Amino acid sequence: MLASRLIERKRDGGRLEAAEWDALARAYDRGDVPDYQMAAFLMATYLRGLDHDETAALTRAMLQSGAVLDLADLGLPRVDKHSTGGVGDKVSLILAPLIASLGVAVPMMSGRGLGHTGGTLDKLESIPGFRTNLSLAETRAQLQRHGCALIGQSREIAPVDRRLYALRDATSTVESIPLIAASIMSKKLAECLTGLVIDVKRGSGAFLPDFDRGVELSRLVIALGEANGVPVTCLLTAMDRPLGRACGNALEVEEAIHALHGEGPPDVMELTYTLGAEMLMMAGLARSVDEARRRMEVSVSSGRALERFQQVIEAQGGNPRVIDDPSLLPQARVVEFYTAPRPGVVSRVEPRAVGRGITALGGGRRTMDDVIDPSVGFVIRARPGDVVKVGEPLATIFARDEAGVAAGAAALSEAITIADEAEPPLPLVSHRVTGEGITVYEAEPWVRTAEYPIYRVFGEQ
Ligand code: URA
Repeated sequence: MLASRLIERKRDGGRLEAAEWDALARAYDRGDVPDYQMAAFLMATYLRGLDHDETAALTRAMLQSGAVLDLADLGLPRVDKHSTGGVGDKVSLILAPLIASLGVAVPMMSGRGLGHTGGTLDKLESIPGFRTNLSLAETRAQLQRHGCALIGQSREIAPVDRRLYALRDATSTVESIPLIAASIMSKKLAECLTGLVIDVKRGSGAFLPDFDRGVELSRLVIALGEANGVPVTCLLTAMDRPLGRACGNALEVEEAIHALHGEGPPDVMELTYTLGAEMLMMAGLARSVDEARRRMEVSVSSGRALERFQQVIEAQGGNPRVIDDPSLLPQARVVEFYTAPRPGVVSRVEPRAVGRGITALGGGRRTMDDVIDPSVGFVIRARPGDVVKVGEPLATIFARDEAGVAAGAAALSEAITIADEAEPPLPLVSHRVTGEGITVYEAEPWVRTAEYPIYRVFGEQ
């Protein structure tokens, strides 16, 4: 296999056979294809796209580049949740221990920050001592003991996604439906799941802002799941504003801890419970959204979910005392308010500008080798629709120094628009997509949309 020939073919709009995807993934994993060739190949793929069979072959090649967790003997349903990426999205940190506390095994394999979005691994590693690089044996043992493991791709499991993910981040090749689908599904199929829920973000801060592209991605991941025996449900959710208030690694862990105390921001709690209800119903542990929600609320109010998070933190080498004392998380040296430059209505809080602001503060990567500062970020209390006075605090900037405060303020002035009227925000959860079709999300009962009728998996609408 000559990588330059495959690059050339993809560049010119050709397609690769399954054996070629396999050979490419293996050669890249062995180090026989260097990053510069893979970067060129990714860009050709980004521009030319992949057909369905190519995406399935790439997913399989990436999956087979590593081991698969064998969890069938756990004797528990195994359900995970993944997000296509957002700003302020700390739901995984809350949901994994919460759902595990209700008798579901959650072998959650996540990623690092990608583009302007934050990554669950980076957030978790802001907990002093927390290890996300568990071996296969450690992951299994932890799932047996605590029903939950929070891990990253490694040399053993999903190794090709681990490297491609970082390379795509550094080469502006993230926003590609087949590359996103293969990245997500190669990791998730390695988890030996009985069900998967995917939070597909839409809106200006999502990798795929348009509704139609979100639906296309949903259909693809559902088809890839079905071909591999894993039922997948996707929810289309809003990323036209950050989720919750905290944006930045350690700050988001702190907000997740508050959420597990039952004191999270309303949108964070709502999305957590909505995704969690899908997980519990998939696991066969609830018959309706209402029943699932009641069970989750009891787990949070009784402290069981929080206790499970504490056990998982301790089991993965983290300091479990952060649960009772979040000040043990990394603290920014300089903390300042960002105030309203004029009176009016908050019309937009733009997630991309917030995400780029976190990177400018040192909390995100510009190159693959950057080391991030987990303490920096924003707590944004302004929400679209809020009426504000001039000088009123809209957000708090957490920075390393005064230059960071200035960079943070510049990012917020780009992100937060104050106007005379608010733009209507997207519904927090708008659609539910399964192998059966797409429905407008109305908790229950599901209502079908006219413009997106039922479709067949692998078939046309
Ligand atoms: N999540 C992933 O795991 N991969 C992507 O490419 C995007 C979101």
